[in-house]
Amino acid sequence: MRIGIIGAGQLGQMLGFAARDLGHECLFLDPSENPPARVVGPVIQAPFDDPVALAVLAEKSDVVTYEFENVPVEALGEIAGIAPIYPPPAALGQAQDRLSEKRLFETTGIPLPAYRQIDSLSDLEAAAAEIGLPLVLKTRRFGYDGKGQFVVRTASDIELAFNELGGRKLIAEEWVPFDYEVSAIGVRNVDGIIATYCLTRNEHAGGILRVSRAPVDDVALTERSVGYMHSLLEHLDYVGVLALELFVVGKGLLANEFAPRVHNSGHWTIEGARTSQFSNHVLAVTNQSPGPTETLGYAGMINLIGEISEAATSPPCGVFHDYGKTPRPGRKLGHITVVADSARECDTLLAKLEECVTESR
Ligand code: AMP
Repeated sequence: MRIGIIGAGQLGQMLGFAARDLGHECLFLDPSENPPARVVGPVIQAPFDDPVALAVLAEKSDVVTYEFENVPVEALGEIAGIAPIYPPPAALGQAQDRLSEKRLFETTGIPLPAYRQIDSLSDLEAAAAEIGLPLVLKTRRFGYDGKGQFVVRTASDIELAFNELGGRKLIAEEWVPFDYEVSAIGVRNVDGIIATYCLTRNEHAGGILRVSRAPVDDVALTERSVGYMHSLLEHLDYVGVLALELFVVGKGLLANEFAPRVHNSGHWTIEGARTSQFSNHVLAVTNQSPGPTETLGYAGMINLIGEISEAATSPPCGVFHDYGKTPRPGRKLGHITVVADSARECDTLLAKLEECVTESR
């Protein structure tokens, strides 16, 4: 089959490699000059909302998918009659607006932090009184890697935060004193068959994912997350890979957000699981059964951000992935995955890698 992929960044590149291994061809659409996925298939160079380019992509493809969250849903609607689009654009629409995302969690019975819709300074003052401080003010749309957020710590921050982010649609959210952050990754195919990966523990710095570790050895948390994943995938009549980011608080989980696509926190699955998230996404959108998701040990993944040191290109352990991007502060340029027999050994390998990783943010 030919798979049309909107977005040709590193996620598109890794989807492309997986598709090629499964005997498919890929065609990409991306506005950039030299996107990472160019090495695995032709790229139509055009803006994500270019109706003509999107129509050409759909006409030349048996199925269309995306690796980028800010594709305009209306533009996708216009090509829906030409080729099937997975994940369903309605799921993308819900992920693009933090308010509808939170309502979706409520509808599907997934616990989440207290929140309020904020359209004015007085809404924010009321939210601070009701939810308490600190709280996080976030733009409803186009936030990523912690951008478009303001932590309101004291009453004097309220006006400051609103002036900084006001003018856009906002939500305010309870500040969660979480123990750690995890992500759940699941996949559903066109026939509704679901598979889920173990929970992944994630560490962020400056809003950007730095290190992931899997599995999280907690049966109760894992079972709970699998239940949430099934609710979401079924409610959305979802097709493809979905990532759900959660806060662990004591023995409970609170949903932060979901991504209707393959996810950075699942990169370890390339070496660390029997079927990678990328292969499973391709299997799902081409309506094959998902492959087994069991881990092959304890996996760790470290992102290479801003620059790749000489030492990181031939690391002392693990597998180095280079996306082929021009270095820029804060940019994800590659990652290294390690797989070990125990969590402790995995930590030792990650510590070794830390020594050869330099970053600029
Ligand atoms: P987000 O863009 O919503 O994923 O936020 C980026 C990061 O900010 C998260 O991974 C958390 O580390 C932190 N964060 C976001 N929302 C909250 C919250 N309500 N309470 C505590 N930390 C948060």
